Amino acid sequence: MGLIPESTLEEILSRVDIVELISGYIPLKRVGRSYKALCPFHHEKTPSFIVNPDKQIFHCFGCSAGGNAFGFLMQHERLEFPEAIEALAKRTGVIIHEASAAERKTQNLSEQLYKINEAAAHFYSDQLHAPEGEPALKYLLKRGLTKETIQKFKIGYAQDKWDGLLNYLRSKGFVLGLIEKSGLIIAKDNGGYYDRFRKRILIPIHDTKGRTVAFGARVLDNSLPKYINSPETPVYSKSKVLFGLDLNNEEIRLKDLAVIVEGYFDLIFPYQAGVKNITASCGTALTQEQIRLLKRYSRNVVLVYDSDNAGQMATLRSIDTLIEEGLNVMAARLPEGYDPDSFARRFGPEGFQKLITEAKDIFDYKLEFLKSKYAPLTIPNKSRAASEMLSLISKFNNTVAKSAYIKKLAEELSLDENSLLLELKKTGNENNRIPHKEENLPPPKTPVAANAPERMIVRLMLEEQELIEQIKEKLAPGDFQDKNISQIITKMFDLFCSGKKINTNSLINHFTGSHLSKIILEISTCEWPAVSGTQRIIDDCVRRIKESKRKLKQQELCRQLKLAQGPGNELKLNDLLIEFQSLSREGA
Ligand SMILES: [Zn+2]
Repeated sequence: MGLIPESTLEEILSRVDIVELISGYIPLKRVGRSYKALCPFHHEKTPSFIVNPDKQIFHCFGCSAGGNAFGFLMQHERLEFPEAIEALAKRTGVIIHEASAAERKTQNLSEQLYKINEAAAHFYSDQLHAPEGEPALKYLLKRGLTKETIQKFKIGYAQDKWDGLLNYLRSKGFVLGLIEKSGLIIAKDNGGYYDRFRKRILIPIHDTKGRTVAFGARVLDNSLPKYINSPETPVYSKSKVLFGLDLNNEEIRLKDLAVIVEGYFDLIFPYQAGVKNITASCGTALTQEQIRLLKRYSRNVVLVYDSDNAGQMATLRSIDTLIEEGLNVMAARLPEGYDPDSFARRFGPEGFQKLITEAKDIFDYKLEFLKSKYAPLTIPNKSRAASEMLSLISKFNNTVAKSAYIKKLAEELSLDENSLLLELKKTGNENNRIPHKEENLPPPKTPVAANAPERMIVRLMLEEQELIEQIKEKLAPGDFQDKNISQIITKMFDLFCSGKKINTNSLINHFTGSHLSKIILEISTCEWPAVSGTQRIIDDCVRRIKESKRKLKQQELCRQLKLAQGPGNELKLNDLLIEFQSLSREGA
């Protein structure tokens, strides 16, 4: 989806009623002008989730979730911004005119490629059930797949021919240039094309919308390479797709847990055995994009990779990204010699379920791995293990978790906790500061005194648009010390100058996905002490903002004055003094 004009967003918001929207998901209770509910985003016993029909926003005082109608859908349905727009546009009957000519062209190309892949999947599936496909079908059934599973995953077969698919697709009217873009055929050096996949079992790969985007292809015997895949195409990027997620996302959401395996059959066999909250990364360490996709359905994952060394390394490689993305990660350890595929076949759904319930915290998993890698635990070996564990610990964003893990690591390796803390700081990551206890407390809900006048100005401008003009005459964005507020002010002035209407609901659209939208919500919903006389408040805020700016400038001049007190700097010193004096007069 391309850039959607602001007017369309406004149009959608003007037609949607947030109270009606949210009450379709959770029961709302009217209290005065607002509505209250138990927050759907955190666990609570007394309602602190407020829907404000005047501002058309929601806000939770418990977990500080908040936003407008788009924000609610994004958080509740786990949609991306464009998807939330699309959903609300449908609901309100607003037609989105967004795609430029170039975008329409790529969209058109993608549509064509989906069609080609779809046709190819159909062709391969037919081939599996044709006489030529018999060895492949026998192989699959012998491995333990049922016909139903083969159907479900639309597994197919490519014959040992150079132009089987090529001829089929051409007979369906697809042009060569387009087929080539699908990656299913390869151009020969001396002209002409040939099929990419031959004498292989074909497994179609779908995106979350269920469209066929690529294929994985496995040999029938032990020849190498065991697997080849479609290349990257306009509709397929290996790092952005999770195998089986189209089929299993609902189950992952229901169980609030995703089992992650590596290969196609590692997924297909457990699936057949009844483990349906499962998805596969297919030969890569998990990427950020894949994890973000997954996060829409659950934040809890269990990694089930092969028990061999390669499998363990793959597990460890994926962990860092998972933790950085804030997921709760566990790892299950398969018995020696098993992969998820053979394990599920041997031990069935109960065995697999047990494996998952017994999954270990990722910290324990890695430590156990390192303990055997670095056995015996001599002092140099201990230090190696410690440093690899520290790199894991440094990935956690949660400082409480960090210090708990440090403590545990010290105990497990009988090392000194304080030296481990020192080492952790050395890893150089900004996140690695373990703060004092007080810093772990959540930030106060009401704005702190320091930037209270700055926040008050934003609030006033949000509530009474008529005030913006006079505030703009008195203050510039650069007068605001708080960088966040300064950015918000800049945007508000811009919108004002282009004649746009400004309110909380429309303003946060400009900061979707940014921490600034949270700040705007906080400012717009927090309780202010009752004060009367808007003009007096404005004057007072303006005075205090200018005053603190002047003080800051004075401090800066003092610093420069000190620096300039050497020989040869007389002229500069003089300039600085004049500036300093004039600043002091302003404040008097
Ligand atoms: Zn909440």
